[in-house]
Amino acid sequence: MPKPYVKLPTSRFIKVECRKCKNIQTIFNKASTKVTCLKCGELLAEPTGGIVRVKGRIVSILS
Ligand SMILES: [Zn+2]
Repeated sequence: MPKPYVKLPTSRFIKVECRKCKNIQTIFNKASTKVTCLKCGELLAEPTGGIVRVKGRIVSILS
């Protein structure tokens, strides 16, 4: 039986650009709550069982 989570994703900070207002924000990839743009309130990322699904454009991934 495969495990429900293949492997635990590494904790990372991701720079995401808001699709609406182009504001660039740093988010944590294991956030447990929705991440919204601080400028316009657009949804940038939402949690999906341990790792976030990024809705904005990923600018860079910080290690
Ligand atoms: Zn925005």
